[in-house]
This record gives sequence, C-alpha cells and structure tokens, in this order.
Amino acid sequence: MKIGFIGLGNMGAPMAANLVAAGHSVTGHDLAAAMPAGVTAADSAAGAARDAEVVITMLPNGDILRAVAAQVIPAMPAGAVLLDCSTVDVDSARAVASQAAAAGRHAVDAPVSGGVGGAAAGTLTFMAGGPADAFATVRPLFEVMGQRAVHCGEAGAGQAAKICNNMILGVTMIATCEAFALADRLGLDRARMFDVVSTSSGQSWSMTSYCPAPGVGPKSPADNGYKPGFAAELMLKDLRLSQLAAEAADADTPMGQLAMQLYERFVEDEGGLGRDFSAMLPRFEGRERH
Ligand code: NAD
Repeated sequence: MKIGFIGLGNMGAPMAANLVAAGHSVTGHDLAAAMPAGVTAADSAAGAARDAEVVITMLPNGDILRAVAAQVIPAMPAGAVLLDCSTVDVDSARAVASQAAAAGRHAVDAPVSGGVGGAAAGTLTFMAGGPADAFATVRPLFEVMGQRAVHCGEAGAGQAAKICNNMILGVTMIATCEAFALADRLGLDRARMFDVVSTSSGQSWSMTSYCPAPGVGPKSPADNGYKPGFAAELMLKDLRLSQLAAEAADADTPMGQLAMQLYERFVEDEGGLGRDFSAMLPRFEGRERH
C-alpha cells in the first residue's frame, strides 16, 4: 500500500519502520524527527498525503491532530483513509472524522496500547472507531504494526475505549501501590503479598504483569529504577482526557478524578516527571497518613 505517515516520534518511527519492512511504500513527515530507514521524506504533511491510500498520524494531542488533518484531508485522494493512532480527546477524533466524511474521505481513530516496546516489536493493540469498510481497508496495516485490533464502533469509539482502559489502569496502579505501602507498614513481605494478590480477587494487570515493587513478580520498570516504560506524564495525559470526556458526557467518575489529581501532584510537584507511572510506589512509601 502507499502510506503517508505524519508524526515519526517515539511511537511513529518504529511503526513506520515495521510497515516498510512488510513491503509497504511509506512517505513520512515530521516537524523535528528524522525519518527511519526506508521512509521517503516529504517536506509537508500535505506532501506525505498526496497519492496515499492511507495516511497515518501519530501526534502529541488533539489540537495538533486537528491542524494536521485540515492540511492533509484536502490533499488525500478521494476515498483514502485517514488513520489516526494518536491518543487524543474524543471530540477531536469525531471532528476530524466529520471533516473527512464531508470531503469524501474516510477516517478511523485507532489509539494504541503497548507503548514504545510494542511499537518496535509490532505487538500493539489497536482500538478503532469508524466505518466498517474503512476499518477493513486498514486492517492489514494493524496486522503489521500490532497483534490485535478491536473495532469498537463509530468515530471516537477507539478513543473512548482507550481512555476508559487507561482510567482503570491509573486507578488500579495507585491502589496496588498504596496497598504495597500499607503491607510494608504491617510487616508483610512484598513477595508474599504478590503471591497472594496476583492469584486473588485484588489482582489486576498492575499487580500481575507490571508489578510496581522491585524484585517482585515479572520484570518491570520497577526493576530498572522506574525508568519508563509508561511515563507518569503520559498517564496524566490520559487521565486528563478521561476527565474531559466524563465532563462532556456528564458521567460520574470520582476514582478517575482522584487518580488524575494524584498523578498531577506526582508529575508537577513530587519529582514524578520522566519516571515510570509505577513509581507511585516509592511516592507512597515515603509518606505518612494525614
Ligand atoms: P513523540 O513526542 O515522541 O512524537 C510525536 C511526533 O510528532 C514528534 O516527532 C513531533 O515532532 C511530531 N509532530 C508534532 N507536531 C507535528 C506537526 N504539526 N507535523 C508533523 N509532525 C509533528 O510522542 P510519542 O511518544 O510518539 O506519542 C505519540 C502519540 O502516541 C501520543 O498521542 C501518545 O499519547 C500516544 N501514545 C504513546 C505511548 C508511549 O508509550 N510513548 C503509548 C501509547 C500511546
């Protein structure tokens, strides 16, 4: 396929490299990042979109996505698909989809789970929103860049699934970390705590697959000085998106709200910036009840 790829940063570059390795023809554009081997550089977003059957975007936020989409949609051939894999607010995803439809192009929002490691290994999970025929067009690309793609519904449904998932993740990570900190004070050995919780009703991905306690459970960023992994500021971004969506939809999400506030303090005032989101455990360790 002829693919335009805009936003070749930490995630976009390895995703584009996997498309090239699978034999696709990729033309890329980024304001700052270098092109991975095999990707032809275009000097504008519109330049990367011209002639493309699918234009993939992997950008920092919804405002940038809207600005790029406004340049790209008119440049894309009629019937081409704009596939946004960034994590953005649901409203931006829907606005871009409407703009594409009005111009006779298609849009799919398909944020990912799996991080930089998953992008490099081609094992991402995509959660997609948009028309079924556009999803079918891009499905072979999901198979190259990832392991699993779920069609969640109409435009915005992919972003909705992503922020609901990550709201659960933020909340369960905090709960897991505060429980370890309590266990410490109760004199309970962390390895025994893991053995019990990972096979009991308190288990979650945060405990079982990404244990925040160093030396306990499978290898995780905790075993590497809390170097990300999934950085606390990216978790904060997703929790903010969940609360933006909750406000717009008038949904009551008190745990998501509290998780957002805790990550906000952690990132902005408590040295969490640049650390893995599981570094909430050393944060709780050092705190007294008040
Ligand atoms: P990044 O900052 O490394 O990459 C973004 C790239 O977009 C940069 O290279 C930047 O120069 C480029 N860019 C910005 N504005 C542009 C414009 N107008 N035109 C062209 N290029 C432009 O970020 P990332 O870590 O690759 O994340 C990208 C998206 O993926 C984000 O929405 C993020 O939330 C999401 N995501 C990231 C991870 C992760 O672990 N890093 C995991 C899941 C989802």
